[in-house]
Amino acid sequence: ATKMANATAKAELGRHTWHFLHLLTLRFPDKPTPEQRTTLSTFFHTFSLLYPCGECANHFQQLLKEMPVQTSSRMNAALWLCAAHNRVNERLGKPEFPCDKLDESYDCGCGPDPTSSKTILLGPS
Ligand code: FAD
Repeated sequence: ATKMANATAKAELGRHTWHFLHLLTLRFPDKPTPEQRTTLSTFFHTFSLLYPCGECANHFQQLLKEMPVQTSSRMNAALWLCAAHNRVNERLGKPEFPCDKLDESYDCGCGPDPTSSKTILLGPS
């Protein structure tokens, strides 16, 4: 592939991945169990080791050290990821996203009752 095609693919991967990650934190329980908190924390550390863009993965590993994953609640997890994404935006010269607009900007289409899908994904809380 050409250099341009590679750059487009990297951006596409980034957009899809951010979308998935924001939905994931926005569906995290309001009152997570200790096990759910460990699952989220472990997920982001594993994610940072396996992300397909190596340059991105290295930067994100560094970011996790500076800004540890927040797992105490859905809102803290979602705001943490928003702030982390904004740090990446800053480095790439992209605009800062208003983190108070997260809930109105993202919809996973998972149904009107968020607790039912959380129950399936993460077990009863
Ligand atoms: P994206 O940053 O992909 O965002 C997609 C959409 O999400 C935006 O249009 C906006 O609607 C919304 N959004 C923006 N900011 C936020 C926020 N803070 N919170 C919630 N929603 C928001 N690319 C590189 O070239 N170098 C890197 O080192 C690099 N590191 C990355 C690390 C990770 C973990 C990920 C997932 C991606 C990384 N990328 C990197 C890709 C880069 O972040 C972008 O995804 C890509 O450049 C496409 O940018 P975009 O302008 O379409 O918007």
